[in-house]
Order: sequence, then C-alpha cells, then structure tokens
Amino acid sequence: MPKKYDVIIIGAGIVGSLVARFLSKYQLDILLIEKEANIGMGASSANSAILHAGYDPIPGSNKALTNVMAVEMWPVLSQELGIGYSRCGDYVVAVTAEEVQVLEELLARGQRNGVAEIEIISGTEMRRREPLICPDIVAALWVPSGAIGDPFAATVAAAENAVMNGVELMCGTAFEDFLMEGNQIIGVRTNQGDFHCRWASNAAGLYADEVMHKAGVRPEFIIRPRRGEYVILDQAEFQLTQTTVIFLTPTDKGKGITVSGTLHGNVIVGPNANFVDSKENKDTTTEGLQEIWEGGNTLIPTISRKHIIAQFAGLRATGNAPSPDPALNYNQDFIIEIPNNVSGLVNLGGIESPGFTAAPAIALKVIELLQNAGENLQEKPDWNPVRAPRPVFRNLSREEQAALIAKNPAYGRIICRCEMVTEGEILAEIHAPIPATTYDALKRRTWLGTGRCQGGFDIPRVVAILAEALAKTPEEVTKKGGQSEFLYRSTKAVDQDYLNMEALI
Ligand SMILES: Cc1cc2nc3c(=O)[nH]c(=O)nc-3n(C[C@H](O)[C@H](O)[C@H](O)COP(=O)(O)OP(=O)(O)OC[C@H]3O[C@@H](n4cnc5c(N)ncnc54)[C@H](O)[C@@H]3O)c2cc1C
Repeated sequence: MPKKYDVIIIGAGIVGSLVARFLSKYQLDILLIEKEANIGMGASSANSAILHAGYDPIPGSNKALTNVMAVEMWPVLSQELGIGYSRCGDYVVAVTAEEVQVLEELLARGQRNGVAEIEIISGTEMRRREPLICPDIVAALWVPSGAIGDPFAATVAAAENAVMNGVELMCGTAFEDFLMEGNQIIGVRTNQGDFHCRWASNAAGLYADEVMHKAGVRPEFIIRPRRGEYVILDQAEFQLTQTTVIFLTPTDKGKGITVSGTLHGNVIVGPNANFVDSKENKDTTTEGLQEIWEGGNTLIPTISRKHIIAQFAGLRATGNAPSPDPALNYNQDFIIEIPNNVSGLVNLGGIESPGFTAAPAIALKVIELLQNAGENLQEKPDWNPVRAPRPVFRNLSREEQAALIAKNPAYGRIICRCEMVTEGEILAEIHAPIPATTYDALKRRTWLGTGRCQGGFDIPRVVAILAEALAKTPEEVTKKGGQSEFLYRSTKAVDQDYLNMEALI
C-alpha cells in the first residue's frame, strides 16, 4: 500500500510552492510534485517580476481580491524567506488625450480595489522624476505601492521553507491522472508511481486545464498560452535614473509594455502579449522583439539596441473562467475553488498575471477553502517561517568577502566574471535543502551566466563543478534536465576511436 498523504500539490511554481509553504504550518503530510528536473521552471521563471499594486484587475474579481491582499503580504514574506523586495512604485504614462482617459479609468479602478496613495501626476512632474522619459508624455499614473521582487528566488525560498517544515518534494515527477473512487479523488498517478492522498491541489500552471479535466472538472475551461517576449539590457551600459517600473498605457492585449528595473540591476524591456499554439513555445521572434523595442523606445528614447545582452519569453496561462460573481461579466479570472462535482480537489487555474503577486494570497485562500470544507487544521508548535538567505558574494563589503573566503576558500574563486558569482555560491546551491542539479537552476539561483558573455566563460567550469559535486561525468550534466546535455563525448574518446580505426586499416 503506497504512503497516503493528506495533500499532494501538483506543480512547483510560485503558486504550488507557496501553497506548500503556508500549508506546512499545519500538521499535514504533504507531497509537492514537479515534472521538471528543478522547481520553478515555468511561468514563475520568465516574467516581469513586478509585484503589482492592484489597479489593473476588475474590482471584485479573484484577480483583484488576491492581488490587493498579497501586496501587503510581500514585505513580511520577503523578510521571512530571505529574498529581495523593493517597493519602488510604478508609473503608467500617457501621451495622448485618449490615454489620459485610460489613466483616469485605472485611477478609479485602483481606488475601488483599495490601492493606497494612487494619483495622476503631470508630464512635467514625470519628466522631473525620470528625465530619460519621452518628452511627449502628458501625464502619468503614480502608484507608490507597486514593487519589484524576484519570482525565481521566491519560488525556491518558499519551497525550501516548506521542505524545512516537513513537506516532501519530488522533482522529475509528472502527474498523469487522478486515482478516483466515484467522484472522490484518492490519489494521483505519476510517471514515478501512484501516491494516495485525501486532497490534491492543482497548481500546474499552463497545464492546469488538462489536470482538472482528468478529474472531470470544468471541461469547458481551456488555457491558451499567451507569450510575452523581453530583452535584457547590460547593466553596465544602461540604467534608469532611479530603479522603477514604467508602463505604456495598457491596451486590450495586456498591461502594456514596460521598461523596468530589476533586483539584479539590469533593466528589462517587454513584454508583448500574443497567443501561441503550443504550451512549450517560448521562442522569441523578430516581429515580437521589434514590437517590444518600439514600445520601450516610446517610453525611453535613449535605450539602444547595442545594450541588449539577452532575450527571453514566458507563457501566460490565459484561461476562460468566468468570475464567481456573474455580474462582473468577466471571463478571464483566476479559478480558486473546491469544485462541486468532485471531492478532494483544490483547483487553481488560469493563474496568469498578476499571479506572481497574488500567489501568497492564493495560498491563504487554499487554507480557507480546506477549513470551510471541514478540515480541522492544527498548527505545528515548531513551524519555522524563516528561511535564512545564502551569501551573495557581490553584495558583500570587502571585509565580509574576506571573512567568507577565510572560512571557505571556494568563495575566493570567481566562476562567472560578469556577475561575480563564486564557486562557493554555486556549491551552496548544489548542496541546498532543494539541490540545484542543472545549469539553468544554478543560473536562476545565483545569476551566473546572465551578464554580457551569457555564460561563454562560465559554462565549462560550471559543468565541471556540477559533475564533481553530483558524482556524474561531464557528459551527464544537463542544461535543464532531460536530454539537454552540453557535451557529446570526450575528445579523448574520439582520439581512441580514431586510433582504433587506424589500427584496422
Ligand atoms: C510574460 C509574463 C509576464 C508576467 N509578469 C508578471 C508580473 O510582472 N507580475 C505578476 O504578478 N505576474 C506576472 N506574470 C504571471 C506570473 O508569472 C504567473 O502568474 C505565475 O508565475 C504562475 O505561477 P504558477 O505556479 O501558477 O505557474 P508555473 O510557474 O508555470 O508553475 C507550474 C508548475 O507546474 C508544473 N507542472 C505542469 N504540469 C505538471 C504535471 N503534469 N506534473 C507535475 N508538475 C507539472 C510546471 O512544470 C511548473 O513548474 C507574468 C507571466 C508571464 C508569462
């Protein structure tokens, strides 16, 4: 008889990881499963990293309620999880009279959603605050409670804190089907075997529709992947006057292209919003990059293509779920529910933007749903909400760096020169409570390989470090799991084959 869990969470993005972290407070046996080799490789690793203030979603929708609730959770949560957070505020700028009207609508919506201190400022004031802004700006919406975070670090820290508090995590474990008795879920079937549970929580991001359909829930609900493309600018070459987030006025397609500072110091430009056919299509395109570049250029005319060091794309899990309140007439809301027709499922779906922001509030809603369903959740007396951050060498003073190197010489060996990432930091992630086992996991956790050389110098050394630490051959080290090895075979083996051939001739 396989082990029976109280809760199995499907998907370790920011939502599943925070659900696990908040549920780990209670006396529950919890399993978090993730199909990829490492956690957080879906939408949670490719987005704008903005903690939205909440002026955009339709008042009364699940998006608005969870967004606004979560805004006040992030400062404390970031402290507890030892991750970056900056309440830098954000701006939406208008050039035409029609766009000013949109700003007024956003102001009114923000006020209805309860967004604090939101106001419209003049073009002159906007130019005073950001002299690089396009001179044609006539007004801007200023939202001081907007912030930037680090969605990947947040995902890792949340899952790590969950694991510290007893949650089991299985990566490389793909949900395939539910085990059901009538309309009651009793477990999940995965590519690693069957696991029994009293509750399953669907946090599968882009695949949440397919997961819920396996239980016969919401057959009409469909997720259409909506791609957003970005470029990253070299931080040594371009900076905004102050780190902030500046949006173009939103359109029907989305919140609008932004030029935005990040916690890692780079400015990013993007995203656009275009539906694509495949849930795996994260390609960037010539047309898409042109679209975001024109948007970014409208905001900040001095950005230059020669400062671009990387491009990437993420996929929004855009659904078609109506809001719980039909009077809102809104059909793209988050699903946060225990469905009526199936027992044992906490169903989350359509968690597109502002899903990163809203994730901690979604996790609290999951707890509320379980309690309302009769779960008598008992708090653990020894629950620890604090996860200590690991040292980030480049952020330390000279004295702190020297002390760290004296304790562990691996911190004295720089592996990524552009971003100044040390062997000590890489090893710390490989041996973390949730080990980073691929190049991409290390890249997202330490920021190695994200500078101007884009990994040109560090990849061979990181492959060697990973191979030694994981007791693998270099040929077995992968970029992101599966068949993504960097190396085909050692050149010595080629020499040997060649010599054998010579011998035969
Ligand atoms: C371009 C873009 C810009 C965005 N900008 C912002 C922003 O600035 N601010 C903001 O608040 N939000 C933003 N978002 C939205 C935000 O990124 C998402 O809402 C959030 O990351 C969703 O988290 P998630 O955990 O639901 O999904 P994901 O991060 O995709 O996680 C789902 C996980 O489930 C796993 N999974 C899927 N199927 C299975 C299976 N069968 N078995 C096991 N595991 C499975 C996946 O591998 C994945 O790890 C943006 C999104 C995009 C794409």
